[in-house]
Amino acid sequence: VAPDERLGWAVVGLGDFALNQILPAFANSTHSRLAGLVSGNADKARQIAQQYGVAESGIYSYDNFDEISDNDDIDIVYIILPNALHEEFTVRGAQAGKHVLCEKPMAPTVEACQRMIEACRDNDRKLMIAYREQFEPHNLAAIKAIREGMVGDVNLLSVNAGVSLDPEAPSAQWRLNKALAGGGSLYDIGIYALNASRYLLGEEPTQVFARIHSREDDPRFAQVEDNVAFQLIFPNGAVANCTSSYSTPKNNEASVFGTKAWLRMAPLSNYYNHWLIVDDGNQRIEPSIQEISQFAAEMDHLSRCVQDDTAPHASGEEGMQDVRIIRAIYESAATGEMVSI
Ligand code: NDP
Repeated sequence: VAPDERLGWAVVGLGDFALNQILPAFANSTHSRLAGLVSGNADKARQIAQQYGVAESGIYSYDNFDEISDNDDIDIVYIILPNALHEEFTVRGAQAGKHVLCEKPMAPTVEACQRMIEACRDNDRKLMIAYREQFEPHNLAAIKAIREGMVGDVNLLSVNAGVSLDPEAPSAQWRLNKALAGGGSLYDIGIYALNASRYLLGEEPTQVFARIHSREDDPRFAQVEDNVAFQLIFPNGAVANCTSSYSTPKNNEASVFGTKAWLRMAPLSNYYNHWLIVDDGNQRIEPSIQEISQFAAEMDHLSRCVQDDTAPHASGEEGMQDVRIIRAIYESAATGEMVSI
């Protein structure tokens, strides 16, 4: 659509992900344009505003964020803050009359997720959680192949996510702080394995079983967990074996084993360079799929939902369901018992 018909977005929090992935992605958007920046660092905000052509009047701090209600040039706020701050800024954004895209994980607790959903509903604003891989073409092709029966009945999934978390990295300061992160590798990246298990199967797990292990001599894990292995049991009998870790080189992958074929994505949830194969034991298909900017696709999806008054694909309820299951995973690891959801 014409540039002046695109919806105006304000990015809240100018950290690593916002600066390096989201701000550049506006160049690939068709329905969204950058119109505001919210930051605790006024110098950085001014410099980034200059770089991206954002007006001085579109710059806010966390203190005067509520004044964004007076800015008609901004329709949507995109919350890219440490996890425990998602609730406050989603609620304040909705109260200021703005629609909200909020990063994953939605919030540390189910109760916080509920308050976010209510605030957006009470203010008649749309709320979407930024599950970018639900807009990524290889993931969409895998979902379609499974739904169309290409792999047969799915019995097993194996989904893994790991990174090596450098304790010196600026963002490790909040990622290793339970009050700001909610938890460790599970909230940060295990959520990709969890969410993928759910969208690949198109079902909700009814039970979880989990083990958590962090080395006691590793100072990174005084507050949050490192290695998590969790099992999700689905109503049709399928079992997903999932892991997350802060102590491996970057990796993320999914294998889906069905009665007719298996399907594999590796990587599953990178920013770019995805890979999908389907193998029936005799023949291997490696479909050629065009990479796109997932970030632009998800932002444009919400812009279009606002323009057309339709419900976003990745809703607040979707984000809350992952948080509910994450809490059940911690409970299972703590008790050693299977937990029903
Ligand atoms: P960073 O630490 O790089 O950035 C967070 C930014 O939040 C900071 O730069 C700062 O911005 C602002 N902030 C406000 N208050 C605080 C505080 N108390 N402590 C630290 N930062 C604060 O983190 P990321 O960009 O890696 O992650 C931000 C969010 O995005 C998280 O929820 C994370 O899960 C999510 N994420 C999602 C990804 C995805 O692929 N969907 C990938 C990476 C992250 P400022 O200086 O402008 O005030």
